[in-house]
This record gives sequence, structure tokens and C-alpha cells, in this order.
Amino acid sequence: MKLNLITQKYTTLFPGDFSGNTMQRQTPDVMFCTVKPADFETTELIDFNENLAEEIGLGKIENQTDKDFLSAQNLPENVQTYATAYAGHQFGNWAGQLGDGRAIYAGEIQNGNHQTEIQWKGAGATPYSRTADGRAVLRSSIREYLMSEAMFYLGVPTTRALSLSKTGEDVIRDIQYSGNPQKEQGAVVVRTAESFLRFGHFELLSARKQGDLLKQLADYAIENFFPEVSSENNPTKYIDWFQAICDRTLKMIIDWYRVGFVHGVMNTDNMSILGLTIDYGPYSMMDGYDLEFTPNTTDLPGRRYAFGKQGQISHWNLATLANAIFPLIDNAEVLEKILDDFGKQFWVKHDNMLADKFGFDEVLAEDEKFFTEWQQMMQDLNLDYTLFFQQLEKPTSEIKTEDFKDCFYRNLNEIELKKLSDFIEKYQTRKLKNNISEKESLDLMSETNPKFILRNYLLYEAIQDAENENYEMFFKLKKALENPYENFFPEFNKKRPSKYDNQTGSSQLSCSS
Ligand code: AMP
Ligand code: MG
Repeated sequence: MKLNLITQKYTTLFPGDFSGNTMQRQTPDVMFCTVKPADFETTELIDFNENLAEEIGLGKIENQTDKDFLSAQNLPENVQTYATAYAGHQFGNWAGQLGDGRAIYAGEIQNGNHQTEIQWKGAGATPYSRTADGRAVLRSSIREYLMSEAMFYLGVPTTRALSLSKTGEDVIRDIQYSGNPQKEQGAVVVRTAESFLRFGHFELLSARKQGDLLKQLADYAIENFFPEVSSENNPTKYIDWFQAICDRTLKMIIDWYRVGFVHGVMNTDNMSILGLTIDYGPYSMMDGYDLEFTPNTTDLPGRRYAFGKQGQISHWNLATLANAIFPLIDNAEVLEKILDDFGKQFWVKHDNMLADKFGFDEVLAEDEKFFTEWQQMMQDLNLDYTLFFQQLEKPTSEIKTEDFKDCFYRNLNEIELKKLSDFIEKYQTRKLKNNISEKESLDLMSETNPKFILRNYLLYEAIQDAENENYEMFFKLKKALENPYENFFPEFNKKRPSKYDNQTGSSQLSCSS
């Protein structure tokens, strides 16, 4: 790999603590601390993402140094490792300084005029680890590795995963927070993004009243990652930037709704300023349609981050960001207007997205009612979200109510079945109003509705096997996720088997990772 192409722009531009001291602490004057990854005795590379490596300019694995790099060992001199400080609102409350508690940056790789940041997740403690160990377990590392790539191939903006290695270390985790800690295998994922900057990076500088740094970081972000914002002699530069952040966040959230993704922990420290899906923890693809669904056991009581609330919460998070960057803009009215528009645009884009899923060429006035009724039916009947749209993806006359039983998670009574058949009839009637051909409509549906989604139970099975050194399922899923709009793996294109209905790690997940 071309490790010599790795640079450290961030650490050259911003104030940092170069002591290398990993003691957990507040770092009020700096934006990062240099930190060395932990020493792992026997690391094992499980997988390397060659396509991504090529794309970002790293190239192929050539020697032991390259393999060592992927598990953060014996690093070359030009790679100066560091952890950044950020803050955030967690579950609606100000949490103060957080920071990279188990992510360590290697810096950025330059490929032409494109730059990509590289991080290890799980490579050891940093000053921001608070009371935790800076490690990650194989279970959660597989979940991040596969899901971030699955999202990429689904066309959802996301951070990506370059490699998965085992550290050879045991890590202690209490998965159910039940007072039963267990030994698990440690692992490290190398992940990449154009930038890992979060809302929380800006919230931290704002809370510290470091206005100059706030401006400097915003300028850095605009110049490097927001080509759509003109940065020179632009009196509305920061307003345009906030608008761009809202636009990108909106696109991401609509994509989450399109594919049925629930993030699970939408705290502002887990919101990318670039509008990328970031920090894959207790996330889940939705099986049975349920607006109240949250996979995160920590979030169960309030369901703040449930599937149906993700639009509203992203709006809340953006409002929090607006407060943080207010000193750069100093105009509450204009920020409020942008936030208001976000709320309105959300429904416009959401309707457009649903129209694509249904194969409609446009949203008609009557569709609002149609979509609302559809949503209510899905909620009442708890039909499988992904399989439902596949049943619709047929020549209209061939859609049959009886074929939908593959989407049922329980037996439906007569009234419920009637609801479904009534809906199908309405759909068939509505489809006649299309101005495009049946083929065009089916093509639109086929590129919008996934055939393969990385369901939690599939991940669960892959993890169980991988913990026993069997990676067959892991690699099969990795292959399947590369073509999510094709039915290349019909064995995975099925609803969740009932034995997984209440399985910890499948239908319910904790933040323990
Ligand atoms: P999360 O809820 O996973 O986004 O994490 C919130 C904060 O806790 C972030 O600052 C993380 O870096 C930190 N954190 C989570 N897990 C660990 C861990 N095992 N070791 C150190 N820090 C952690
Ligand atoms: Mg996080």
C-alpha cells in the first residue's frame, strides 16, 4: 500500500496536545491529542476491501508492514496518530466533551485532489475514552464493516470500511447490561470517509466560546468538503454552508427511509457534518414495518430514535448545530427559515421517494392520502417493508393478495386481509394514472427497492459463526451486499425467521460494542 501518501493536514492546521499522554481528561485548549495505538501481540487480518483501497489511492497489500498498518501496529514514521475532541447532545441532553474514545486517526490519504481520512476503530484508549477501554469486539466490528459497505452499495451516503482484523486480545463486555460480563474477541476496523467531522466538533468549539477556531474549522470544512458552497468573497458563505448541511442530511435521511434503515443512536456526536451515515452501533434494517421500531435497547423506553422519528430528530439535531454555529452567522431569522424549509422539504422528498418505490412517475394531489393510508396499513399489519415492495414490483395485473403472505409476521384476520386487498386494488387503480409505460415504472421500482438488505438476523448468524472461526457466512453476505438491487441470493431475500423474533443481537441490540 502507498502508506507514504498519508499526510496530517488536520494536525498541522489546528491546535493539539502532542504529549502523547493517553490519560482520560478534559482538553479545553486543543482540538486533538496525539496518541499511540495499543500493542497487540497476535493480530489476524480477516478481510481487506481491495476496491475501496484502490479507489482512495492506497493500492494493494504488499508486505507485512501493510498488514501491520491495518491493525495499527508498527506504523511508518510519516503516520502520526491522533484522536480528536468533539462534544454532543446525547438522547437530547448536553453531554459536554466526548471525542474519539476508540477511534484513532492515521491522517488523510491524498489521491489527486481527493482526500480520504483513515481511522482505526478499536485500536486502544485515547484521552477521550472516559471510563471505557478504547477497544471494539469482533461482533460490533463485523456489524460496522458489513453494514457501512452495504449502505454504500445501496447508494446511501456513508463512511466506508477498509479492513477487519482481530487483535488477539480478549475484551470484556456485558451485552445485556445485566451484570454478566463476558470475554469477547477484540477486533479493529479501518474505516474511511472524506471527513469524519461531526456536528459535535462544532458544538464543542462553540460551547468553549472559541469563536476563532469555530470559524477556522468551518472554513476548513467548506473549502475541503463542500464544493457546492462558494468560499471566496461570499457574504453568505456560512448560511450557504448550513443550507448545504441540511440538504445533505435530508438526502441521507430520505435514503434511510427508502431502504428501511434505523440508526439507533442519532446523538449529535453521531451526525456527520458531511451528511454521511456514521457510527454503526445498535442499528438495524427494519423487517416488519413499524414506525415505533428501535433496535437500541437503551432507547427503548423513549423510542427517541425509532424509525418513524428519524426525520424529526435530524431536524432537532440540525437546530442544535444551528445554535452552535450561530456566532458565524448572527442571524436567527435566516437560520430558522432554513430549518423550517427542512421540515417542509422533508415531506416533499419523502413523498417523491415513496412515489419512486411505488413506481409512480409523479406525486399527484391524491397521493398524500394514498401514502397515509398505506403507512397506516403497514403499521397495523406489520408487513415486511422490503418484501412488500417486491410483491408490487410486477406487471400490475399480476399482483395478487395471496402472494403477500411471505411478508406476514403473524396470521392476519379477515378484516386485515381485506384491508390489504383493498389497498392493492387502490394501487392498481392509481397506477393507471402513470404517464410512463409499465416497463419504465418497473425499472424505477427496481432501482429504488432493494432485493437484498443486511437484516440483523443474517448478521447475527455471520457473527455466531465468525466467533467460531467460520467466516463462510461473513463472506457470502459481503458478496450479496454488493448487488442489493439484484436477487442474486434468493436465500437471503426472505423475512426474518420467527426463532429470531426476540433474540438479543438480532431483534434487540445494546450499545455494548
Ligand atoms: P457512541 O454512543 O458509540 O457514539 O459513543 C459515545 C462516546 O463514547 C464517544 O465519545 C465514543 O468514542 C465513546 N466510546 C464508546 N465506546 C467506547 C469504548 N469502548 N472505549 C472508549 N470510548 C468509547
Ligand atoms: Mg459515536
